[in-house]
Amino acid sequence: MNRNDLHDVIIIGAGAAGLSAGLVLARARANVLVIDSGAQRNAPATHIHGFITRDGIPPAEFLATGGDELAHYGASLLRAGVEASIAKATARSSSRRTRATRKHVRS
Ligand SMILES: Cc1cc2nc3c(=O)[nH]c(=O)nc-3n(C[C@H](O)[C@H](O)[C@H](O)COP(=O)(O)OP(=O)(O)OC[C@H]3O[C@@H](n4cnc5c(N)ncnc54)[C@H](O)[C@@H]3O)c2cc1C
Repeated sequence: MNRNDLHDVIIIGAGAAGLSAGLVLARARANVLVIDSGAQRNAPATHIHGFITRDGIPPAEFLATGGDELAHYGASLLRAGVEASIAKATARSSSRRTRATRKHVRS
């Protein structure tokens, strides 16, 4: 496994909750990955209300700003379903294992 594939924390969901958790952890210098399939519950709304300092902001703008704030602290945001991400990571690691086994058999 490559060092860059390792994360201290993986958060599923980049709505208000996941982004807030990611920001706090990334500020604490954790290596954070947030995986999100882009189906926030408030997506159909035109504006967010009742969130202090952000009253009236469109949900997409709120999420984009949240993503920028996380990126500022080095957190990564992956736009995908977590199931697809696990399948991809499993395939990647099993292909590495196969290559390593072939190398071992040859030598
Ligand atoms: C029409 C509507 C309007 C609303 N307006 C307001 C408002 O004005 N003010 C307010 O405070 N609240 C509002 N709400 C409530 C609002 O939805 C929540 O406040 C806010 O979205 C909750 O954030 P959250 O992070 O908990 O969940 P969500 O925003 O729902 O985020 C969860 C995220 O997890 C992701 N996810 C889930 N499962 C997986 C998986 N297996 N793999 C990858 N990603 C996954 C989803 O794609 C989603 O992006 C509204 C809700 C609705 C339905």
